[in-house]
This record gives sequence, C-alpha cells and structure tokens, in this order.
Amino acid sequence: MATYTPMIQQYLDIKAQYPDAFLFFRLGDFYEMFFDDAIKAAQELEITLTSRDGGTEERVPMCGVPYHSAQGYIEQLIEKGYKVAICEQVEDPKTAKGVVRREVVQLITPGTVMEGKRLLDKENNYLATMTAFDDGTYGFAYTDLSTGENRMTMLASLEEVINEMYSIGAREIVVSSAFSDDMYEKLKERYDVTVSYEEDVTIPDMFYAAVHSLGQEKLQITFARLLNYLLKTQKRSLDHLQPVQVYQVDQYMKIDVYSKRNLELTETIRTKGRKGSLLWLLDETMTAMGGRLLKQWIDRPLLNHEKIERRLNMVETLINHYFERQELRELLRNVYDLERLAGRVAFGNVNARDLIQLKKSLKQVPDIQAVVEKLDNEDAKQLARTIDPCSELVDLLERAIHDNPPLSVKEGGIIKDGYHEMLDRFRDASRNGKSWIAQLENQERELTGIKSLKIGYNRVFGYYIEVTKANLHLLPEGRYERKQTLANAERFITQELKEKEALILEAEEKSIELEYQLFVDIREQVKQFIPRLQKLAKLISHLDVLQCFATVSEENRYTKPRFSENREMVLKNGRHPVVEKVLGAQVYVPNDCFMNGEREILLITGPNMSGKSTYMRQIALTAIMAQIGCFVPADEAILPIFDQVFTRIGAADDLVSGQSTFMVEMLEARNAIVHATQNSLILFDEIGRGTSTYDGMALAQAMIEYIHDKIGAKTLFSTHYHELTVLEQSLWKLKNVHVSAVEENGKVVFLHKIEDGPADQSYGIHVAELAELPRELIQRAQAILAELEQQPNEAQHNVKSEPFEQLSMFIEEPKPKAPPLSKKEKRALQALQSLNLLEMTPLE
Ligand code: ADP
Repeated sequence: MATYTPMIQQYLDIKAQYPDAFLFFRLGDFYEMFFDDAIKAAQELEITLTSRDGGTEERVPMCGVPYHSAQGYIEQLIEKGYKVAICEQVEDPKTAKGVVRREVVQLITPGTVMEGKRLLDKENNYLATMTAFDDGTYGFAYTDLSTGENRMTMLASLEEVINEMYSIGAREIVVSSAFSDDMYEKLKERYDVTVSYEEDVTIPDMFYAAVHSLGQEKLQITFARLLNYLLKTQKRSLDHLQPVQVYQVDQYMKIDVYSKRNLELTETIRTKGRKGSLLWLLDETMTAMGGRLLKQWIDRPLLNHEKIERRLNMVETLINHYFERQELRELLRNVYDLERLAGRVAFGNVNARDLIQLKKSLKQVPDIQAVVEKLDNEDAKQLARTIDPCSELVDLLERAIHDNPPLSVKEGGIIKDGYHEMLDRFRDASRNGKSWIAQLENQERELTGIKSLKIGYNRVFGYYIEVTKANLHLLPEGRYERKQTLANAERFITQELKEKEALILEAEEKSIELEYQLFVDIREQVKQFIPRLQKLAKLISHLDVLQCFATVSEENRYTKPRFSENREMVLKNGRHPVVEKVLGAQVYVPNDCFMNGEREILLITGPNMSGKSTYMRQIALTAIMAQIGCFVPADEAILPIFDQVFTRIGAADDLVSGQSTFMVEMLEARNAIVHATQNSLILFDEIGRGTSTYDGMALAQAMIEYIHDKIGAKTLFSTHYHELTVLEQSLWKLKNVHVSAVEENGKVVFLHKIEDGPADQSYGIHVAELAELPRELIQRAQAILAELEQQPNEAQHNVKSEPFEQLSMFIEEPKPKAPPLSKKEKRALQALQSLNLLEMTPLE
C-alpha cells in the first residue's frame, strides 16, 4: 500500500467523511483540493490543475483558490448544485506539533447558503425535507437558513410534495436512504433539485422542546431529520431558527405546478424570469423582507373569507390615506433586511457596518409606528401597538458603534469613545504619543537648525527622523542612531523616540485587541434580540406588502373585490393585469364576465390571436389577486372564493422535458378532472389540439360533459372546434361566447371583445371577400358553408345521449371507383400537388 505524507493522509481521512462534497482544505493562504476533487474543480472553476508530491511515486493532482477570494468560487460550485466542505486549520501552525489539526467547520450546500450573490434579496432560499411513511403519507418541512423561517405539513402524495417544492422553489431536499430509486427518478424528472441524505431522526437536545411540542410523531420525525442535517452541516448552534409553523395545504387555494407556470405567477414561461409575471407587476414592496413575503402570498392565496377581507380593508385604508402611505414608503425604504441580519448575527458573521444598518433600520420603527397608528383601521392600530422598536438595542448600538466603521472587525476603529473606560485609556495613550511626536518634529528642527527635517513612520522601521544628505553635517554626534539609507537621505532614531514608539504601538495593539473583544461581546448582546427582531421583521414585511397592494391598486385603478356566497361571478370591465400594463390601458380592451349556476361553463370560440387565452387567464389572475388580498383589475368585481385553480393553456412545448406535448396536455387535464370541485376554476384552452381532429374533438366534448355533469366547476373552455358550440343546446349550464371582429378599411379587425353566442363561422369567407376573390366563388363558398351548417343540426337533437353523432359530417361516404387517369391528367395532378399553397395569393 502506498504511504502518503501525513498531510495528504489527513486530507484523505477527512475527505472520506464528505464523499459528495468538494473538500476545501485550508493550507496557509489557500484552500487546496486534491485527487479527483482537484480534477473536477479545475474544470468547473476553470482554474489551473497542478500536482504535488504526496509521498508516493505518482504526484497528487492539486488545485487551489486563495482564501480571500474563495467566496466567489464556492458560490459557483453551489450554483451548479454541488456541496462544499470548508476545512480549516484549528490550531496555530506555529505551535502545532506535526501536521496542523484541521476540521471541517461548515458544509455549504445549495439549500444552506448564508451569503453571496446566490441569495437574492427578494427571494427565499429553501432547504426541504420529506419523510415517506408506510401509510402513504409524507411529512414535508422546509427552512430558510438565512432567515430562520420554518414551515411544515403532512401531504397525501409525492405529487403534492413536488407541488410544494415547486411552489417554494426548494433548492435542496433531505431524504432518508429509504427513499426509493423510483421516487428519486420521479422527483428528478419533474423538478431539478439537489438530493441529500440524513438518517438520524432523534430529536436534537437543543430543539427538544420545540420538536416535542409538534405532538404528532410523523411531524417530529420529519422535522428532526431537517434539524439533524442542519446541525451536521452547519456545526453551530442555529439560535435564529424560528418556531416551526405547521400548515395545511387546504388552508390555501391550491394551484398545481402546471397552473402556476401557465399563469406566470412568479416567472414567465419563456424566459423563466420575473419580468412579465404577476409578481413583477405587483412588486411595489420597499424592503427585501416584504418582497419575499409578497412572493409567498402569491404562492398561497387564502381561502378564509375573514382573513382576505382584513387584508383588503387594510389595503383600502392605505389607498385612502395617500400621504401616510407615501411617508410609510419612505420610512420602509430605509429598513434593512432584519430577517437575514438576524440570521447572520446567529451565525457570527455580521460586521460593524451591518450593525449600523440595523441601528438605522430600527430608528425608523417609532416613526413607522406613528404613521400606522394614524390609519383609520382597527387592524392597523393593533399592528402599531404590537410593533416593538427594540429601543434598548438602538441605545446600545448608538453608544457603542461608530457611524462609519470599517469593514474589517479586527483592525479597530469600530467602538466609540466613552463606551469603555479601558479602551479610552489605551486610546489616550496612543493619541498623546502621536501628538508628542508631532511636536518632536519642531523641537528637532530647532535643535539642529535643519528646516527640512521630517518625522515619518513605516511598518518596518516604525517612527524615524529623516535628514537629507546635504544636511547630515548639521546633526550633532551621539544622539542619533542610523536606521536606513536612502538615495539622498538618511533615517535615524533616538532613544526617546524609540521609547515613545513602543508605548504608542503597545497602546494601539491593545486597543485594537480590546475593540475586537468588545465587538464580539456586542454581537452576543445583539443575539439576545434575535426573536424580537424576527417578530418585528414579520410585522414590517406584512405592512410592506399591504402598502404595495395599495400602491399598485391605486396606480392601475383596481377595484376592491366582493365575495359571493352563491358562487356567482360578476366582472365589469375586467382586464388582464400584466397584458394591460404592457400594452397600456388606452389600447387594452376590457371585458365583462358573468357566471352563475346557469352559466357554469363558457365555451369560447374565435379565431387565433383574438384574445381567448388572455381572457381566460385574466379571470384566474383576478381570482388569485382577490384571494391574496389585493384589489383587482376591473370596475366591479364579485367573485366566489375558489378552492383551486386548474389550467391547461397555450403552447406548452417547453414545459416538462421528456413528455410529448399531448401527454402533458392530458396530464394537466387529468389533474383538473380528478381534483376539481364545484368551487374550483378550470381553464382549458384548446384542449385536444395535440391529436387528430376526431380524437381531439371527442376528448374535448367528453371533458366538457364530465365537468358539466359530475363536477360543476366554473369552467372557461376555448376551442377552435366550432362544432362544439351546439352543446349549448344540450348542456344547460354551458353558454357560448366568442371574440368579436369587425371589418375596418377592408381588413378584419379583432376587437378582443367577448360577446355572447358562438363565433361567426364565416369570417374566413369574409376575409376571402375582402381579398376580392370572384363574386361567384364567394357565393358558392357561402352556399357550401350553409349546407355544412345544416348537417350537424340534424344530429344535434340528441347530442347528449349520443354525444359524438354530430361528428358524422366528417365521415366519408364510400366513393364510386374513379376511372384511371390519362397521362395529361396525371401531369396536371403532379403540377397541382407540387404547388405551395401557403405561399400563394388566392388570385394566383
Ligand atoms: P388567442 O388565445 O385567441 O389566440 P391571445 O389571448 O393569445 O389570443 O391574444 C393574442 C394577442 O392579442 C395578445 O398577445 C394581446 O396582445 C392581444 N390581446 C388579447 N386580449 C386583448 C385585449 N383585451 N385588449 C387588447 N389586446 C388584447
């Protein structure tokens, strides 16, 4: 067996404990990687691969990054879904016997990032965990380590787990090794996430009370797994973890993964970015915390009428108090990310500047309180009373920390004079010494008569007296000791100067040391405030989102929705909020929507690009906005409280890889058909387009009938199968609506206006007429159309019992056998077949 050097052996021993992470092995001013880690890291980070003698014949592959710039490299690896184990020297190399002792101090994983670019201000970074129980249920918990937020719930299927993961955007999930390959595949196929393992589900001592209070054993096991993983990777006390909030998915409007994407709630389908999403439109939050809460609210619209009403009333109050709202916005602008700051305090990596930011933020709080107190709303007054400005903390920071402290916490300049007596004394000593030296320069000039004599300081030689070569002869003998020779000057020290220097430097060193200790001590004191800061952060972010709703609602002329008890929906001049924003309110055509017990399914017909899917999305977005407590884009809005929203909309080719578009379409449809209730909203856009006409139309009709008879959900169904419009006669809760078009200056123009009744089928012929096809031909087309329209009517008297009979118009009659073609005819036929009809004008 090969014998490695003791250091490489130490590396291998530690690496064995972290097989799935890059081991950043501290060596002086570098983090080094060896063996396979080095080869892989060199590729991923594009850094040079070298090698090192490891005691064996073959050299050991090695690469490294400087300690001070490691953060960027770590982020790159985490971004790619890797983990990084930080291994530090844990004893002083000067005093160490043999190899310096090293230990992993933290395992950084995608779900446990505490700092860096990856941590976007307005986004949470969630680590999730799940435990599959024998009875088919799943415990699901998640935490944002940077804010300390924890939530958990029990779920009924892996599908629901994936839904939740998508909705929170989890970056990593912790499972047990019992998690089957099958489940792993299923998960990875649908949602790209780092999977980590943790077997230990014993409750950690420091969290015993918190976990125990969850009661139910399944919850305890699930949460304990998460905590053990955090403790093992972070290797510290995690003081900032907040009490876990247990929730039920049925407290919120359910919107499955597909629908969330289709409706572009928090990101757009095409760019996967925020811009163009509902979140983008609504985000008028002033703080990072508010931004994160807004996203959470959009992901979880409420079902509880009273809670919704309370949010709406606050929004209304804030709209009415324009000046107070502007003031509030200005105050919030200066509030720093208290939640993440609390997390960093707990982790012990805040600097003095962070604490100054904290102080500035807290100083806004009494003013915020005063503004909120003035609002004419009981909830607002209650909120104002609950806000805790943590004034003792402000006092402490005010007394202790300089307003413009340096970034480094180890070089002094942080603590104010008067905060600590000993520190003041050291500082006096060093300041007195410095002014003594300043005076010395004058004294020495007088003594020697050398006007250009200078006293300076550098790190190597300390204080010195500098005399130019031309003046050297003026120096008296004996008193001056030569230290350094320059090109045209000499530097000297004197006994007196040396003594003073020692005093100054000692005082300075001591004061810097003491400052650091004091700073650490203050940081510990701030730690005590973490729960209060977190509570404050919650109230402030809540307030921020409400003012955000008020601001957006006022700016876009939204209206306060009302809720119906009888599942009726009335929208007057409703708009799609994002399309309206992008197109401009002057261009956008508002639309009404009326649905009740007799208008449960709207079958929307109309040509492509006329505005069908915009209309459908608008209804869903309006319902969601209402249930998160925001005003809605309409002049008047009465809505049922929807328990779930399902959509199957538009081109979904980029949705889920590996499945055909049609399969995706059917999966989404299935999801709606299986789970919808009469309180749900279903949007089906062009269902059945992905397959042949017969197939597609048959499926579409069957789905409509199923929803009509068995579910009773409010449904908007757009289709280009005009034949389906006859269903209005047999399905009493189904109504036809269409998008209107007019002729303007010889062109057909879509008005984007939704009207009752089926679309005019002859609009194609109309276009042909505008293109000036021969009058005779147009007349013939009209006659054929009339004949075709006649046919389904014969069958339609009983569409219900024989649903697909109307399709008979497509079934070809057996044709008499045609006589064989002549040569000339064959050539003509070939010529016709080779024409590209799509690129010809009708006249050609
Ligand atoms: P369809 O689903 O009928 O194919 P879309 O809903 O995708 O049509 O709408 C096509 C385009 O028409 C949209 O991109 C939008 O710019 C415009 N549009 C839709 N609805 C309206 C409206 N109410 N007012 C103005 N423009 C609209």
